[in-house]
Amino acid sequence: MMKGKAPPDLKIHKEMADQQTVVVVDDSATMRAVIQKELEVAGFRVVTFSDGLEALSSLRWMQKLPDLITLDIDMPRMDGFACCEQLREMEAQGVYGDIRTPTPVLFVSANDTFDHRSRGFHLGSLEFISKPFARGDIAAAVCKVLRPQTVFAGMSGLVVDDNQSLRRMVRSCLERFGLTIIEAENGRHAFELLKENLVQIDLAIVDYDMPVMRGDEFIHLARQLPEVEHLPLLSLSGTGESQAVLRMFRAGATDYLVKPFLAEELLARVQVHLQLRRHMRRLEEMNRNLYDKAVNDSLTGLRNKRYFQEAFEEMFARAQRSRSDLSCLFFDLDHFKKVNDTCGHGFGDYVLTTIGGLVKQHIRCGDLAARFGGEEFVIALPNTGLEGAQFVAEKIRALVEAHGFKDQGRQWAVTISIGVASLHAHQAKTAAALLHAADQGLYRAKNGGRNRVASDPE
Ligand code: GH3
Ligand code: MG
Ligand code: MG
Repeated sequence: MMKGKAPPDLKIHKEMADQQTVVVVDDSATMRAVIQKELEVAGFRVVTFSDGLEALSSLRWMQKLPDLITLDIDMPRMDGFACCEQLREMEAQGVYGDIRTPTPVLFVSANDTFDHRSRGFHLGSLEFISKPFARGDIAAAVCKVLRPQTVFAGMSGLVVDDNQSLRRMVRSCLERFGLTIIEAENGRHAFELLKENLVQIDLAIVDYDMPVMRGDEFIHLARQLPEVEHLPLLSLSGTGESQAVLRMFRAGATDYLVKPFLAEELLARVQVHLQLRRHMRRLEEMNRNLYDKAVNDSLTGLRNKRYFQEAFEEMFARAQRSRSDLSCLFFDLDHFKKVNDTCGHGFGDYVLTTIGGLVKQHIRCGDLAARFGGEEFVIALPNTGLEGAQFVAEKIRALVEAHGFKDQGRQWAVTISIGVASLHAHQAKTAAALLHAADQGLYRAKNGGRNRVASDPE
């Protein structure tokens, strides 16, 4: 090793001693920045180099190697493979003392060919990440190596097998990666745990040949429980006999592994299933959020016009079928332009939100309130005739009038005008006609001086 003048960036390497450090080698500054940010957010210390030569000459000076290195392959001066080869040589020569395991290396490259993958694995690389990668891929791959206990953190697996030593083997293999393991020695016990909701699981590993209840019988039963309907069910068996395999798949297994198996294979399969499950959960959550945005008004939290129109059609059809009544209130804020002009748009928004809250609190659970447009609201009242609807409208009008609208030092007296119409009283033939009749009532209320409830005709 060279002696004499210390290289200028030695300071960085001293700091490396305290925290898990990842060295990122990539000739693209953008790529370095993206990977660095992702790993720093995950809590790693990151040092970047722009090619193999630069990385290697710095690594030569280090007392201690980084915990992991990500290497681009195509780089000027020295590519990723050459850099990794030289690193392996230095490790073998004992430059860093007697290290037990070679430094973990992940190749990150756009050049994802079989040849590159195979060269990478021969150099002891643990993973090959293909560019472009998705957000989170790099951090996930690094965490799998450096923090295995976070891989399945927060997830649980149920192992159903009469063989205790196999249950232990599965436990020790998967618990290392943070999966909580619950054991059951037969299908009946496992089914009870699931049926009574005593455990919440993300995956089950089920033996085929068991006393009390065979694996396929258990899977068939368990699949009927709503929480198990989409659960990954990995079956195990001492026999690869096609009869057993088919029975398990027909009963609803999602995968099959023949005993004895390598711990790595079990891990790899479990990882595929659990990653899919995580993605599914994320998708479900995104779907819920999207649905929420599609049907609700973000300002007031009431339903939006689109949702109201569809639901109101259904309410109308139901009322016609059951010959019950249905009423509609249509209201609009009085001189709201003036509120905005005088107190500002922020205050105007506060007024709209507050009115949305007041309405929500004072209607029945079967009623439906929505923000129909800018400062217009509608309320559908099933099983309610004109008289009842006028009563509700008057209650809401009075509530708004009595409410002191105050926000950030500004205040304003706000009133609303409400039009009321009912299916029977207005002989409405369609939902749109009923809504229109309520709108006519609103027109009349405005013309009559505002801050009032009206129907057209009276
Ligand atoms: P009228 O009593 O006849 O209903 O008078 P108005 O001033 O309430 O009616 P106009 O239709 O002239 O004005 C409606 C106002 O509502 C104008 C617009 O600035 C305001 N508005 C509509 N949507 C929003 C909103 O989302 N936030 C705020 N702050 N104001 C809104
Ligand atoms: Mg108005
Ligand atoms: Mg208006």
